[in-house]
Amino acid sequence: MSTQTANAPAHESMFEAVLARLDVAAKLMNMSEDVATILRSPIKQVKVALPVMMDNGKIEVFEGYRIVHSTVLGPSKGGIRYAMDVNQDEVMALAAWMSFKCAVANLPYGGAKGGIKCDPRTMSVGELERLTRAYATAMKDVFGVNRDIPAPDMGTSGREMAWILDEFNKVTGEDSPGVITGKPIVVGGSLGRDAATGRGVMVNTLAALKKMGLNPKEVTAAVQGFGNVGSHAARLLSEQGIKIVAIGDHTATFYNENGIDINAALEFAAKNNRVLKGFNGGTLINANDILTCNCDVLVPAALQNVITDEIAQNIQAKLIVEGANGPTMPEADPILNEKNIVVVPDILANAGGVTVSYFEWVQNKAGYYWSENEVNTKHDEKMEIAFAHVWDNASIFKTSMRIAAYITALQKIEQGVKLKGNY
Ligand code: NAD
Repeated sequence: MSTQTANAPAHESMFEAVLARLDVAAKLMNMSEDVATILRSPIKQVKVALPVMMDNGKIEVFEGYRIVHSTVLGPSKGGIRYAMDVNQDEVMALAAWMSFKCAVANLPYGGAKGGIKCDPRTMSVGELERLTRAYATAMKDVFGVNRDIPAPDMGTSGREMAWILDEFNKVTGEDSPGVITGKPIVVGGSLGRDAATGRGVMVNTLAALKKMGLNPKEVTAAVQGFGNVGSHAARLLSEQGIKIVAIGDHTATFYNENGIDINAALEFAAKNNRVLKGFNGGTLINANDILTCNCDVLVPAALQNVITDEIAQNIQAKLIVEGANGPTMPEADPILNEKNIVVVPDILANAGGVTVSYFEWVQNKAGYYWSENEVNTKHDEKMEIAFAHVWDNASIFKTSMRIAAYITALQKIEQGVKLKGNY
C-alpha cells in the first residue's frame, strides 16, 4: 500500500467529511467537476414530524428523515436507523455512502438513508410499532419497489421491516414485498440476509489477509459491537480459524488472549436481552481499549467516529475492516496510512448487507426464492470481485483502499451521469 493520504481537515459535519474524501478521490482520478457538483447535493431530502401515542397516554412527536443522495445507477437503496443522534447531516452522509457502496459492489442502485431520532431501547414494542407505521405512511410517496428501497440499520431489524411492508401495502393497496429488504423470511426475506453484512466483513478480511501474506489461522481479531454486524462477523471470522481476542458492546467489553468462545457469547447475548453485560468469557476492559488492544485485525462494527487521530496513533492491528459506517475520522486516515495499516473501508467492507438486500429484491421481483447456499455463493463472488477491483485501483492510483473505493464508485457513477445526460 502506498502512503498517499486523504489530507482531509477535521470536520464537524459528517457529510462534509464524505465530501472531503470525495474531493481527494475526484482529483486523483481526474473526475469531471460537473459530476462532483452533482454529487455534492442529495437529490431529495424529506423531514417529517411523527406524532405517536406513548404507553403513558401522552403524544410524543419524533423527527424522521429519508434522504435520497443519488439515483444515477438505479433506484435508491439504504437502511433506516433508530438512534438518538440521528440528524439531517448524518443521514445525508449515510445516504452518500450508500451511493458509493452500491457502486463499489456493482449493484444497480443509487443511495439513500433514513432515520428516526428515538431511543429504541427505552420504548415498548407497541410504541415502536406505532412509530414505525407512522414513518412508513409519511414516506409512502418516497418508498417504492422501483423508486427507493429501505432496509434495516442500527436500531432496526426484520421486525421493523415487516411493519413497514405491511403499512406500505395497506396504504398503497398493493402487495409489493420488494419495496423493503431485510424482511423476515416468511414475509419475503432472503435466506442469508441476516448474516450478510458480517459475512461480507469475513470475505473482505480473508481477501485482505491473503494479499498481506497472513494465514487466518495464525491471526487474532477484536470486534467492537455485538449487534447484527459484529456478532455475525465475530462468529464467521472465528469459523475461519481467526482467534477472536476481544468483543464488546455498549454494556461491556472483554479481552481474552486465548480466544473468546464466540458461540458461548452468542448464547449468552441471546438469553440476556442481546447484550454482553455479565458474560464471563474474558477479562472486562475499558470500552475504548478494544480499539487499541493487542490484535492483528480490528473490526469496528458499532459506531461512527470511534477511530480518532489519538486512537489511530495507538492502534496495534495491521488490518482494519470497517463493519460500521464511518468508524474512522478523516483526520485518522493519514496516521493509519503512515503506520502502513491496511484499512478495508466501510463502503467495501460492509457492502455484504446491501448485496444480499439486492438478492432479496431480485427474488421478490421474480417471485422465486434461492437456497442459502446459492445466496452465500453469489454474495462471496460479488464481494471478492469488489475487493479485487478496489485493491487494483489502490495500486493503479497509488492510494489507500479508502480513496481507491471512492474512485471505484466514482468511475461508475461518472459513466452513468455522462451516459444518461442532463437538462
Ligand atoms: P445493531 O443495532 O444491530 O448493533 C449495534 C451494536 O453496537 C450493539 O451491539 C451495541 O451494543 C453496540 N454499541 C452501541 N454503542 C456502543 C458503544 N458506545 N461501544 C461499543 N459498542 C456499542 O446495529 P448493526 O446493524 O450491527 O450496525 C452497526 C454498524 O454497522 C452501523 O454503523 C451500521 O450503519 C453499519 N451497517 C449495518 C448493516 C446491517 O446490515 N445491519 C449494513 C451495513 C452497515
